[in-house]
Amino acid sequence: MTKANFEGPHWDNGVEYKDLTAAEFVVDLEKLRRNVERLKEQSTLFDEELARVTHLSGSDLELIEAAVRMRRLADETFVLGANLGTYVSCLLSLNGGHTQARNMQAILRQLMTRLEESLTSIELIMTQAPDGFVSSCLSRAEFQPHLFSIQKQREWRPYLLSLEEEKVLTRFSVNGPDAWGTLYDNIASSLRCEVKLDGQDISMGLARAAGCAQSAHPLERLAGYRAVEGAWSTQKEACASILNALAGWRLDEYKTRSKNNALHFLDRPLHESRIRRSTLDAMMHVVEKNLEVGRSALRLKARELNCEKLGPWDLFAPVPEQETAGETKKISFDDAVELIRDAFADVDPEMGQFVELMVKNRWIEGTVGDSKRPGAYCTRFAKSRTPRVYMTYKGTMEDVGTLAHELGHAFHNWVMRDLPLPETWYPMTLAETASIFAETVVSDVMLKRAPDPVSRRKILWGDLGSAESFLLNIPARFWFESDFYDKRQERTLSPDEFSELMSQAWKRAYGNELSEMNSMFWCSKLHFHISGTSFYNYPYTFGYLFSLGVYAQRERQGKDFYTNYVQLLRDTGRMGAEELARKYLNVDLGQEEFWQASVNMVKRQIENYVALV
Ligand SMILES: [Zn+2]
Repeated sequence: MTKANFEGPHWDNGVEYKDLTAAEFVVDLEKLRRNVERLKEQSTLFDEELARVTHLSGSDLELIEAAVRMRRLADETFVLGANLGTYVSCLLSLNGGHTQARNMQAILRQLMTRLEESLTSIELIMTQAPDGFVSSCLSRAEFQPHLFSIQKQREWRPYLLSLEEEKVLTRFSVNGPDAWGTLYDNIASSLRCEVKLDGQDISMGLARAAGCAQSAHPLERLAGYRAVEGAWSTQKEACASILNALAGWRLDEYKTRSKNNALHFLDRPLHESRIRRSTLDAMMHVVEKNLEVGRSALRLKARELNCEKLGPWDLFAPVPEQETAGETKKISFDDAVELIRDAFADVDPEMGQFVELMVKNRWIEGTVGDSKRPGAYCTRFAKSRTPRVYMTYKGTMEDVGTLAHELGHAFHNWVMRDLPLPETWYPMTLAETASIFAETVVSDVMLKRAPDPVSRRKILWGDLGSAESFLLNIPARFWFESDFYDKRQERTLSPDEFSELMSQAWKRAYGNELSEMNSMFWCSKLHFHISGTSFYNYPYTFGYLFSLGVYAQRERQGKDFYTNYVQLLRDTGRMGAEELARKYLNVDLGQEEFWQASVNMVKRQIENYVALV
């Protein structure tokens, strides 16, 4: 096979630990165990003090000292646990069947759960104690890195229940919403379907059947889609029960928390994604006004795929091969790195040097292997604060995009490497800023260098997909969920009503551009059934448009841009999106102008494509 020439390199994690039995690993593990024990002992004091939380004050000096000690130890312990955990999960990515690593992962998970349990009381105290006590703690260096997250949690105080009630709620959710979420996962992983491929009925799991959506053959895409649709329709009663129960539980909870202030069903998700309602409203309003942008991308795709209208099964179809293109040209790993380095260096030489550093230190895993887990991600070691990129690099155009995306995440981590860890935990809304920025920068350079229109078309095909996905598909999910929560306040919905609601939401987004609506999407999409969080959708569109908005500043700010960009990334874990945007981009996210400017960039990408065909 020739693929070996295009394979990426192996990463080197030996600097962290040689293997699971290495002395350094054993030492860290032992230290982690000991620390977790000590934290457990220290936590009993706070379990007791929790009972008089409202009476704590800045003059409880002994307790403040104890809190500072515990915070210091907990942060140290977290670094150890995270470091060991990253090493083990990196091993498992290379080989899911690595038994030793699996056992070690289970051990580490248990230790980290115990660490979190030990911190429950002190964290509740920091959220619920009077200002005097909390500001005395926050004035100490050990608590400084937690300042922003504690402030955020304290904003939630008006909605807190009594301690006893909060505990009951947490305890009961294990067999309440969490159990409904588990039921969905179990159904999804055990459900099988038959897909007709090459004239043969093949039995397969849902993940593989859903993968047919990326096939170059329209009949395979359709066959996969119908199979998934059929499989889920046998489970629609279960899925309806899950959605009704999850939303019902949440709405009851919100009502109970609304003693002083009425809590809307969007308030909690907005609080968690750290953006304001006015920001979401401005963004969604611009999205709704610009549906034509996504729809024009769909029409272009339909034309390229030679059909009058696309079906929902065609949304992930690959770019059609042009007769003139011949053999698809592959891009070697070295060429991809060079391209990305040049594109990054165009923003600032320092960014280019970062790519070289990643390669030189062997922080990228890109080999092709049977036992490797699919997908791509970026992670980091908490001790050395060095990033790692994981993927399978085979030399396709998509692989170059993925590498650029993950290197964007790695750069984000890299510029925060001197900050205390808790200041680097950014919300989902800001998580994709650096990655989508990197992809955009790289695809710009690729376009400039593309030798012919065929190659340019291939590069821009991805832009059409993003326009559809972020400006139509995600909004449809958001509208469906909003409408459902509105209705659920009155009563539960039947499977048919869910399908009807989903069809309406798709129609609102896609208009008449699809041959049919994906009415079973409420069953097939995992995101609606996650127990931990609701409205797991708009942050995607936010991340996409926010990142394009940052990119737009590159031209506007010229020389000053890079410094501002790095500062913005550094503050993603300790500032809200609105404050970041005001400080570094000089824009107001509550106003539509910002969002419209980002959508205009998407419009231009689509016009670029039109110019080619
Ligand atoms: Zn990403």
